[in-house]
Amino acid sequence: MSKKRKTTPGIPAGLALPQFQGTLWDTHTHLDTVVRHLKNVSKTHEVEVYPISEIARAAVSSGICGILHCACELNLVFAIDDVLDEVSVVDGVECASAVAIHPIEAVLHEAGKGGRPEVLAVAPDGLDSPKLMSHHNEYSVEEATEKIYEVAKTDARIKVVGETGLDYFRTADIGKSIQKESFHEHIRIANELNLPVQVHDRDAHEDVVSILKEAKPEVALLHSFSGDESLAQVCIENGWYMSFSGVVTFKSAQSLRDAFKLVLNAAPELLLIETDAPFLTPAPHRGSINAPAMISYTLTYLAEHFELDIVRFCEQIADNQRQLLTRGSAQL
Ligand SMILES: [Zn+2]
Repeated sequence: MSKKRKTTPGIPAGLALPQFQGTLWDTHTHLDTVVRHLKNVSKTHEVEVYPISEIARAAVSSGICGILHCACELNLVFAIDDVLDEVSVVDGVECASAVAIHPIEAVLHEAGKGGRPEVLAVAPDGLDSPKLMSHHNEYSVEEATEKIYEVAKTDARIKVVGETGLDYFRTADIGKSIQKESFHEHIRIANELNLPVQVHDRDAHEDVVSILKEAKPEVALLHSFSGDESLAQVCIENGWYMSFSGVVTFKSAQSLRDAFKLVLNAAPELLLIETDAPFLTPAPHRGSINAPAMISYTLTYLAEHFELDIVRFCEQIADNQRQLLTRGSAQL
């Protein structure tokens, strides 16, 4: 019997959103990683491995006509031309990129070229640390961050610095100071280049807030916002955007929905929606691979749950995204 199964966890089709004014973006997606996941899954399941262009086409069919690709590992930063070129062959889609050294990557660079393997001590996730790749051994964290600066400064398609930040789930205490320094450095780069900074915050709310207050980014957004009402209140007071992923559709995510409701009522201009594809697939497709078109489920779910006019809601999010992405010197 074949080990391949008929039921597949590939990419489901998106919902078709109604007509609205403006361009709706998926402001946080890892396109090359979506394809890599599809390829991995195809080894054991009958899934079709779509190229990036097909994934972008599916997004346009759902009414998502902007894609902000996030490259936050140095080897993937070096590959953004290929990704953006592939998206740009698709009619009706705008694309741009975010670049950074992810906080977990910062620690790997320190373990590699930095010569301090001890920073890979077991973290709260309890997992073995990821294997070092050649770019971790070739570039120190400082050299890698310098590359981010060069790319962001010279490539007009880079609209955001991110994702940077803190990850205390996948990093042991010994790695925290590396992440903090890297986070500070990325904010310095973002401010110098007049670009928004996209923040990864996993189990690190308090330190993320204190670094943001200290380093004062011109524009900050907490990607895949994971806080409660109290963190949302802090973000509102500081004018930081909050970007909600498919997690807000999960049954268990009541405190996240409470935070969303607070922002919706108090500062709707700070709301963003994203996929973080291939991860965090919204209900009812948890377990499948996420892709930009799937943002349609999150938008539809939120509109239904909070009894919002979906056209008006899409327009509000599109408008917020336009404000965010045109804050930098390079205009869309
Ligand atoms: Zn991400």
